[in-house]
Amino acid sequence: MGMSMFQDIPVEVGVIYEGERIRRKDMFVELGGPDIKEKFELVRIKNPDEVEDGKISIIGPDLKEMEEGKSYPFGIYIEVAGSKLDPDLEGVIERRIHQYCNYIEGFMHVNQRYDIWIRLSKKSFQKGFNTFQYLGKVLHRLFKSELPIVEKIQITFITDPDKIREIYPEALKIYEARDAKARGLKDEEVDKFYGCVLCQSFAPTHCCVITPQRYSNCGAISWFDGRASASIDPKGPVFEIEKGELLDPVKGEYSGVNEAVKKRTMGEVTRVWLYTAFGYPHTSCGCFEGVAFYIPEVDGIGIVHRGYPEVAVNGLPFSTLADSTAGGRQVDGFHGVSIEYMRSPKFLQADGGYTRVVWMPKEVKERVKNFIPADLVDKIATEEDAKTIDELKAFLKAKNHPVVQRWRAEAVVAETTPSEAKEAEAVEAPAEPVVTAATLPITAGGFKIILKDAKIYAKKVIIRTFKSEKSEKR
Ligand code: SF4
Repeated sequence: MGMSMFQDIPVEVGVIYEGERIRRKDMFVELGGPDIKEKFELVRIKNPDEVEDGKISIIGPDLKEMEEGKSYPFGIYIEVAGSKLDPDLEGVIERRIHQYCNYIEGFMHVNQRYDIWIRLSKKSFQKGFNTFQYLGKVLHRLFKSELPIVEKIQITFITDPDKIREIYPEALKIYEARDAKARGLKDEEVDKFYGCVLCQSFAPTHCCVITPQRYSNCGAISWFDGRASASIDPKGPVFEIEKGELLDPVKGEYSGVNEAVKKRTMGEVTRVWLYTAFGYPHTSCGCFEGVAFYIPEVDGIGIVHRGYPEVAVNGLPFSTLADSTAGGRQVDGFHGVSIEYMRSPKFLQADGGYTRVVWMPKEVKERVKNFIPADLVDKIATEEDAKTIDELKAFLKAKNHPVVQRWRAEAVVAETTPSEAKEAEAVEAPAEPVVTAATLPITAGGFKIILKDAKIYAKKVIIRTFKSEKSEKR
């Protein structure tokens, strides 16, 4: 990727801008994001005669017609053609939108599919990045140069709410069809998994392990997508993982996964248990669709999705739970998940699966309802049943949720074996106002800082970028 490729673009474009965050006060506008319900990005593979290479269209107001500080509905619709493209690649090509958008100076893209959240900085807008034409040109050139199997590409940006509303349900159907394809295939039936490190620009020690039954955290890359991606671009962010030996079928530990993750995280993560939120859980980057969080008071697991506007049953909003989870760490009891993983029979299997899930927003429950064992559906609370831990306890008791048995079991343990009881107590102890982490990666101003065995006690942490001698010499 040479800089000359982007000479006619008013801002810089390059890998160094990946991971750049744009705060609300620095943004010119926001496209999609939590305040906008309908938004999407979608890639479709078309016949060559249906695609005009390099064509960029804008439906609705362009950037320069937008009002500073506002959020706008947004859709990115990309049509591609190429003799070697097969439909399995749609999801993978679509995920590259995230990567390429983030190469643009002052342009931030997070999440995926129906959840996209984009910000353009005031600075870049003032430098002249004031039309989607530039965004289209950058994407067109990057797709053509980085993924040569894309022979033709045309891009449509949509900001007209009526047009978005028209395409949105179609897009949802297409995502669902992609997800459905991987359902039914079992982890035991394949000999390879796939890994993805696309999110390392935001979470340097994160590596997704994508199996048929553990969908990627972002919910955008299935095992089939992984396979297609690794085959067309083996040196790219998605790669093959030889499963190796199955070390623990319940927790989901494979020797090959451990080795691959160790290598890809430069030794930071050495063990991964695929089907649990405890012990050595799969790491979480930042673009998971939801967080599974342990609720010690009921010894159960709650789920909250991105975009849930209220606080979860434990009194914390998604953003706080997400911060506790994200960053490429393995945090006991905080686990990034995709909605599709919630449809898997292996979903948190080592923790009891749905027999351990006690609360989730109604919206999520609706989406995964058919995959929750029938006798449990009514036993899992939503915000309509419980808004606080006390209400949740009462609900679970009244419904005789399976976790209630665990409370009794724990009480018996407490009476009979003091040592184990002590352990149970320790788990239930309220969290101390401290951040502790074996490895705490921080990305700031293009630098990666890893704090080892960190314990942070602070009311407020302010991190300022500074130029060290070393970086000046670069
Ligand atoms: S969440 Fe995982 S699979 Fe999705 S882009 Fe990030 S690293 Fe890749």
